Amino acid sequence: MESTCKIKTSLEKTSDWQDWKWQQRNRLDWRVADPSRYFPNLGPQERQNLRAYSDHYKLAITPYVLDLIERDALGNPVATDPIWNQFRYLPPEEYQGITSSPEERENWERPDELPTKILHHKYPDRAILRVVNHCFGHCNYCYLTARVIDRNHSDHKAGSRDDWARSLEYLRQHTEIRDVLLSGGDPLILDNARLDRMLSELRSIPSIKTIRLNTRVLTFNPFRIDRDLVNLFAEHKLTALEIHMAHPRELTREVDERLALFDAAGHRPVFLWRSPLLAGINDSEAVLEELLVKLYERRITPYYLFHFAPNTLGRAQRGVKIRDGAALLSSLRRKIPGPAFPRYALFHLDGKHDIPLEQGGSSEFLYENDAAGNPVVRFKNWKQQWVTYPDI
Ligand code: SF4
Repeated sequence: MESTCKIKTSLEKTSDWQDWKWQQRNRLDWRVADPSRYFPNLGPQERQNLRAYSDHYKLAITPYVLDLIERDALGNPVATDPIWNQFRYLPPEEYQGITSSPEERENWERPDELPTKILHHKYPDRAILRVVNHCFGHCNYCYLTARVIDRNHSDHKAGSRDDWARSLEYLRQHTEIRDVLLSGGDPLILDNARLDRMLSELRSIPSIKTIRLNTRVLTFNPFRIDRDLVNLFAEHKLTALEIHMAHPRELTREVDERLALFDAAGHRPVFLWRSPLLAGINDSEAVLEELLVKLYERRITPYYLFHFAPNTLGRAQRGVKIRDGAALLSSLRRKIPGPAFPRYALFHLDGKHDIPLEQGGSSEFLYENDAAGNPVVRFKNWKQQWVTYPDI
């Protein structure tokens, strides 16, 4: 079950390597530095594709992540590498001529659920606060395209301090909201003083009982997790950290060292894992089994494995059909410990929905074709309404 991939390390680790700010300043980002700094032998086509993609979407990879990528004899990324393929450019045909609007590509947000620019209130008892619109690095399959990685739209979606104040007021008035998820982008990109203020203000609202925080820091830049940050979480009794890792190679020694800091501080939030199912990255039984079991070994609960949403960037390359995902999960069901087994779910504008693992679906989850012959699923959602969803 061990991953068979070999990692060739070619980056020089300077004394700054474990400084999370140094990692951020030295990202592969065409707008900051030519990528030949990290890949001196990249071919002209690869360079052109990187550049063209970066003109439309944010592309940023920390040296720490670059060091996880398998390289060929020339020092170039191996084309099938599961780390490189999460963050590299997409070929132009994947994003040029996209007919869905940036908002449709969100797959998730409805304008009537956003009382402020950053507060998303979809379900009665919980709310998401999208406090920042960028991350430590950027994934080429980001399901928040318009909000996070689309250069032409993300700034319009960013909130202000006024939005934060208005969101707090909304939370004070809506006492039915007991659970808040700080998300973005990645909230941990903010400095500790700002996080401290935010957590204090949320904790001052009596009806808010639990606070979660959503981050991909353990993949992009684990050095951001230090004693100060862990103590800050302890002080505000952060309830849960939701993390995103797509491949077992992201579970490194550095990640284990950072997880140990939580135990040392005497406050370890509930760790919940979530990731999309990605073709060529984690859609094989061996890789998914290794990932889920290794997460569980580290007391990280596999919470959600998401179906790749239809209008999301990279769908043609990375999407897995719903039925194939259900078959994969079904075959894993009795092979791994129960607590290591996630919910397989899809995003729908009306709310997330768990996908049944039976191959034929169920009486409330039907595999069908639409009038044009395209595969769809129809299911009864949490509001007891039948909705249709493309499975392309
Ligand atoms: S870490 Fe999350 S929000 Fe940030 S680019 Fe990746 S998928 Fe999008």
